[in-house]
Amino acid sequence: MHKKNNSPKINWTNVIFFTVTPIIGIAGTILLCSFGMVKWQTWLFFGVYAFLTSIAMTAGYHRLFSHKAYKASFIVRFFMVMLGSAGFLGSALEFATDHRDHHRYADTEKDLYSINKGFWYAHIGWILYLDLSKRDYSNVKDLTSSALMRFQHKHFTAVATFMGFVFPMLIAALWGNALAGLIIVGCLRMVMNHHSTFFINSLCHWSGKQTYSEDLSARDNWLTALVTMGEGFHNFHHQFPLDYRNGIRYFHYDPTKWLIYGLSKIGLASHLRRVSDHKILAYQLRVEEERLKQQHQQNADFVQQKIEPLKAHMMGLIEKILRLEAELAILRNKKIEQVKEQYQTHKHQLQDYLHTIKIAQQELNESLMNWRRLKVTRV
Ligand SMILES: [Zn+2]
Ligand SMILES: [Zn+2]
Repeated sequence: MHKKNNSPKINWTNVIFFTVTPIIGIAGTILLCSFGMVKWQTWLFFGVYAFLTSIAMTAGYHRLFSHKAYKASFIVRFFMVMLGSAGFLGSALEFATDHRDHHRYADTEKDLYSINKGFWYAHIGWILYLDLSKRDYSNVKDLTSSALMRFQHKHFTAVATFMGFVFPMLIAALWGNALAGLIIVGCLRMVMNHHSTFFINSLCHWSGKQTYSEDLSARDNWLTALVTMGEGFHNFHHQFPLDYRNGIRYFHYDPTKWLIYGLSKIGLASHLRRVSDHKILAYQLRVEEERLKQQHQQNADFVQQKIEPLKAHMMGLIEKILRLEAELAILRNKKIEQVKEQYQTHKHQLQDYLHTIKIAQQELNESLMNWRRLKVTRV
């Protein structure tokens, strides 16, 4: 009988790519800085391009293509596809098929980046074992009808190489800083794109509050929202994935939501889907109610396990004290009786003594009188 080897195969292309690019990005940036080869315009471009390529992933790849949380004009979709490619995380079709499965099978064995397999597996491990032959794209048929999607998917490596490396290099070349453009705006920025996206699968399923559902590992955390363009309100997102917002309060840091809203105000986006406030509140209340019930049950269990034995012990002690007090009262009464008896005995003895003394005195008096009488007679 042959033993079947079920251990997942390592995707060596991904292992090399996701190991080498951070080394080039970080070491290259340090070297360029130490030789004074980075111009301020490059840093400014780095900040702007990092923001744009990151938000293209969240507003485009994620909320537009994967969830259809709003509709966008062609120009917006085009920029989302082009800028999203610079993140080198696959085509929008690849991202959407994986992500829709992540929502459908969240926290189960079929969840591609399940947090149940550990933080680092959910963060980057899954991509190092990614088996491309297992993707069937059956859940993204609505997207494959788009020529833009098909074009990007077919020519992804070329589009991503141009947007990720060639374009930053060409722009930085305008101020004579092409190499820094390639290393910092190209490579380092891409590594940042990778990990801010990966944080959504790891940190956002690991740390924070379960505000709308305790059945989901996804968490709401304003801190993770800061490094994921607002995707940190992930418990809300998993409960209401069709909502164009992740942070629903006006003060929630969700630049992706603000961008989509802004685009709708200038006519470049429409049909922004949002769950009604009442429905959101109903889910929130259900979680709160469940928590209160659990707390009540915990209190009842605590009473049963700790308070009841303590109460029984105390009642035993009280009974013992009462019994002792009763015994003490009996003893005290006995003592009093004894004293009374002794007193009576002594009293009688004393009366006897007094009586004896009285008789003795009478006898003495009589004797004295007799003595006097005898004396007079003799005289
Ligand atoms: Zn998730
Ligand atoms: Zn999602």
